[in-house]
Amino acid sequence: MSKISEAEVRAEVREWLAANWDPDLSLVEWRSKLADSGWGMPQWPREWYGRDLPHGLVRAVEEEFANVGAIGAAKSGVRLLAAATLLEHGSDLQKKKLLRRILTGEDTWCQFFSEPGSGSDLAGATTRADLKGDFWIVNGQKVWTTSAHHADHGLLLARTDWDAPKHEGLSYFVIDVKQPGVDVQPLKQMNGHASFNQVFFTDAKVPQENLVGRVGDGWKVAMTTLAHERRGVDAMSALPRSGSPKGRIYIEERAETEKANQPYKWYPQRAGRVDLIIDRAKETGANKDPYVRQEIAKLLILAKSADWTARRARAAQQQGRPQGPEGSLGKLAGSHVARACSRVHTLITGTDAMLTGTESPRDGIIAEILVSVPAVSIAGGTDEIQRNIIAERVLDLPKEPRFDTGPFRDVRKN
Ligand SMILES: Cc1cc2nc3c(=O)[nH]c(=O)nc-3n(C[C@H](O)[C@H](O)[C@H](O)COP(=O)(O)OP(=O)(O)OC[C@H]3O[C@@H](n4cnc5c(N)ncnc54)[C@H](O)[C@@H]3O)c2cc1C
Repeated sequence: MSKISEAEVRAEVREWLAANWDPDLSLVEWRSKLADSGWGMPQWPREWYGRDLPHGLVRAVEEEFANVGAIGAAKSGVRLLAAATLLEHGSDLQKKKLLRRILTGEDTWCQFFSEPGSGSDLAGATTRADLKGDFWIVNGQKVWTTSAHHADHGLLLARTDWDAPKHEGLSYFVIDVKQPGVDVQPLKQMNGHASFNQVFFTDAKVPQENLVGRVGDGWKVAMTTLAHERRGVDAMSALPRSGSPKGRIYIEERAETEKANQPYKWYPQRAGRVDLIIDRAKETGANKDPYVRQEIAKLLILAKSADWTARRARAAQQQGRPQGPEGSLGKLAGSHVARACSRVHTLITGTDAMLTGTESPRDGIIAEILVSVPAVSIAGGTDEIQRNIIAERVLDLPKEPRFDTGPFRDVRKN
């Protein structure tokens, strides 16, 4: 394949947008054009709605879209994790059936991995899938499932062989969430939101064609999903758009964003809101307190170094290099920053940090930070698990002793 320059890509995108962009189309009509042309996900393979474009040139395409105010493919939630997993392991039938509706935003996805007895120990999953005729019959329970309450499909990790060793007895499926055997129950969190659910499967059905990879490949396929999750593949594009957002498509997009963002409203707070620190210190006069000033300086230094680590990880990804230690270090650094930030917010705001409601500091945002920050050290792999990964895979220290070898049936659970 001949190498394409950034200038050539930009010229091609501009020409295509001039001929096709129309804000009076519906979201699905417009995104169908994106899927057909490959400009919605240009880094994807040409045969699957992409253009085989190197990762490093994707930003140029996004900038050209932003320049004319054009909307991109649907990217929120778990849908891009699903797409990345299917592109690597899915059958042609699955890609044909599912990828297009991911891009158009017609289908919403969730990730059925964690269970009450297996979160960090994901390979210990005990939700079972048994083949009966043309269907896999699923029984068991998942928990922490973000967005399951409005998802169409779920990425399901389930045990299909109880005699195989733990990691080898798992298989990976796409399950239809809106069926009678799937009972989704939202869980209310201590910050008042309900973004995740517990989900019970009772004889839920998965057609054979929805097995991703082969029977017993579940762990390998799940690792692909998790690698993309830790790399932040599903992050929404945040380029500011030019032009006045008038037209049917923008109205539909606002409604879509509002619905998609509902479960994630508190996510900025769980990261600690470093952006509020200086203003809050000025507003409260805490900027004159020498001790608080020291703590603010320490926090901002920590946040800056975490930001540089994250940038190194992004640069490696854009150049198509494999992920280095930055992935696990970055996740851990994010937890440190969030916790330090929550502490400094408390120093600045004092006991008022516990107040909620319209008369509380920043309309309850400070209190929401304090009760949301713990989630960062848990979601996507806990701090302790990240430390284990760093110890074993980055520093090459001896592995933790294992007591879970042999047939899974005989392994001690929980
Ligand atoms: C906001 C949020 C959203 C989430 N969304 C989803 C989702 O959509 N889908 C999904 O499947 N899951 C989701 N999760 C679940 C998440 O992946 C798990 O919570 C996480 O993997 C930890 O598992 P656990 O909660 O079972 O904790 P446990 O594994 O029970 O861990 C409990 C404690 O023991 C420690 N520990 C465990 N094993 C070790 C070890 N080997 N060495 C040292 N310490 C250890 C842990 O670090 C932790 O402190 C979400 C979680 C959060 C917080």
